[in-house]
Parts: sequence; C-alpha cells; structure tokens
Amino acid sequence: MKTETMISHFAEDREKYEGAVVPPIFQNTLFTFEDWNAIDAAFDDRINTSIYSRGRNPGVNIVEMKLAKLAGGEKSRLFASGMAAITAATMHFLNAGDHVIVIKNIYGPANNLISVYLKKKMGIEITFVSGDSLDEYEEAIRPNTKLFYLESPSTAIFSIQDIPAICKLAKSRNIKTILDNTWASPIFQKPLEMGVDLEVHSCSKYIGGHSDVVAGLIIGNAHDIDSIIINEFELLGSKIAPIEAWLLMRSLRTLPLRMKAHQENAIKVADFLETHTKIEKVNYPGLKSFSQHKLAKKQMSGFSGLMAFKLKTDDLDKIKTFVNSLKLFKIGVSWGGHESLVYAPAISYLKELSLEQFEGLGISLGDMRISVGLENADDLIDDLKQGLLMIS
Ligand SMILES: *Cc1c(COP(=O)(O)O)cnc(C)c1O
Repeated sequence: MKTETMISHFAEDREKYEGAVVPPIFQNTLFTFEDWNAIDAAFDDRINTSIYSRGRNPGVNIVEMKLAKLAGGEKSRLFASGMAAITAATMHFLNAGDHVIVIKNIYGPANNLISVYLKKKMGIEITFVSGDSLDEYEEAIRPNTKLFYLESPSTAIFSIQDIPAICKLAKSRNIKTILDNTWASPIFQKPLEMGVDLEVHSCSKYIGGHSDVVAGLIIGNAHDIDSIIINEFELLGSKIAPIEAWLLMRSLRTLPLRMKAHQENAIKVADFLETHTKIEKVNYPGLKSFSQHKLAKKQMSGFSGLMAFKLKTDDLDKIKTFVNSLKLFKIGVSWGGHESLVYAPAISYLKELSLEQFEGLGISLGDMRISVGLENADDLIDDLKQGLLMIS
C-alpha cells in the first residue's frame, strides 16, 4: 500500500466498532476482565494489553501503529507534548554521569532540558557541535559518550546534519542517536531508515496540522519503545489524552496532501522573497541558494513550510511596521498549522538581552520567521508584498 492509502486505513478494524467509519474515542480509565485468569494473563503482557489508560489505550494505539508504519519503525508511542517525548527519549538512553553530544541551536527547551536540567539532576556532561562536519563528533567523543542528539533540519537556523554518516560513526562507537524530525515530518524524511535509533516529533506542528492539538511522539524499534513504555512513559505519566490522539488520526488522513501543499506554497513564497529588493537573504532548505541544499535533497524527499528571511533594514520602527502590517500572516509562536504565521526572534530575545548580546548570537533585528500555511500562495505573496511596501 502506498502512503496515502496506508495512513487512511491501516490499523483500523471497522467490524470491531459496528462499521463506524471513524474509530471511537476510548474515553475510559480502566478495562475490566472476565475473571482472575484473564487479568492475570493481561499482566503477563502489559505492554500490549489495555489495562489502565496511563499505559495502553486502544484508540491511541491505532494512531501509534499508523505513525510507526509511516516512519518505517516497529513501534511508536504518543506523548502529551513534544517535550514529554524528548524528555522520555533522552532519559531512556542516558544514565547519571553520561556524556552527550548535541547540535547547537536545537529547539530551546530541548537544549535547556539536556544542558541545564539533566546536567544538574543527573550530572550529564554535554558538548555542543555545529553538526556540519563528522570531525567535530569524532573529536568530541569521550569514553562515557552515550548519545548524539540531532535536529535536522534544525528549526532555528535550518542546519542539516549528514544523518547516515553520523549514525554510522555512532554505531561504530556504541553510541545511540536521537533525531528531532519535526521540520520535515515523517512524509519528507525517514531518519530510522538512515540509521537513527529514535525519531522524535512535536505533533503540535505538521502531524497535528490544525493548530488544535499539543502532542509528542517517539518512533523506534520494539526493544527501545517497550522499555520506554514501561519506564519513562508510565513513570513520568505524560500520556496523551484519548481525544487528542483521535484528533491526530483525523490529521493523519490529510498529512501527505498537506505536506505537498505546504511545500508548493513555501517554494512560491521563498522564490518571491528571494527576488525582492527589500530582502537581504532567505534561509530555506528548499532553495538552490541554501548552503546545504544538496545534502538536504539527498536525505529529504521534500521541504516543509517553515523558513526565515532577513529584512534589509535595522530600523526597529520600520521592522515593527512591516510585522504589524501583515494581515494573513498572524503574529504568533509555533508553526506547522494550516494558518500562516510570522514571528521575529527579536520579540523574545530583546526582553532578555542587550542589543550587543543579541547581535553576538548572529541574529539581527530584521530576522523574520514565517510558517507558510495552506492558504492560496498568491494571497500570501500579496500580503508580504504590501507589508514590504510599508518599509520606506
Ligand atoms: C515545538 C517543538 C518541540 C516541542 O514540542 P511541544 O509539542 O511544543 O512540546 C520540539 N522540537 C521542535 C523542533 C519543535 O519545533
């Protein structure tokens, strides 16, 4: 079965729910059993049996089976958020005193989790690398290195890591790998097939796609996922709500179509921005001008809708006028939904940093991040056009 067909039908058994075309939401805390022997047997296989909804829930499990199949993994587990999934995945591989090599510029809270929280609580040692060359990893490896944490493309600056090469090095040194695949989605990139041990996602972005669910996901082999289910999943207790998983099932039915449409729109918008005289640079892996475009094309079959560009002005008033004049691009955090969004890193950074510190990070006032949604591309371009006209 091809992806579009599989994602629609796989793991659903309509006979079980009286022919209902959509499986029900199993909104129950516990499951009851015929007799002593039945519940006794359930405990013998508690990973794959529904006993209590902090463990397994049948409706949630339908979605997990679809997602595992889509990513080419054996099993997956949904979590209450992307951060819950990232916390569970990193704690699965790390023990007190271990060393981890992490890509600079990964998602901020994931960075805080590893470099601040796990460091303090578990004495985790950490080395940051740019991720651009294999030598960096070689040099950073210590006897206690247990994990490479990757995010490709990274969602702050879209840096691409050579996934097969990095995984090969990791395997040769008995080091595990986690990759945050949120930007590309499981439609455009298959990290497990390139050797990654655990693929993590924020389903709050493209997998959900309707800006109505916060959720997370880990996909991997049965050995790792079963261990996570018994340990990090059950003990940290950050389970997804049955209705949120049910909404994700709704979302999955259009995921292949949505990703195609996001890509088409994003390329049109990026092409427009790149030729505009008031724009200095567009940062989007789908553009030929993108520094790692070749590598991006090698390991992804398509490009999503999140990109950055830099206005050719450092005048904060003009920059604010541009942002405020946009009508279709709404101002907000997050991305990956049906709606187009704009965000300027300056909005949050200027609260914490001086202008000099801010520029020291390689970010400028004129940096914009946009999430290109599913509206008509011509309308989106017109909106940007009129906004750019406001910058004199
Ligand atoms: C949003 C995001 C997360 C965190 O996901 P939540 O669902 O918000 O917890 C993790 N990684 C990346 C790349 C993200 O964009």
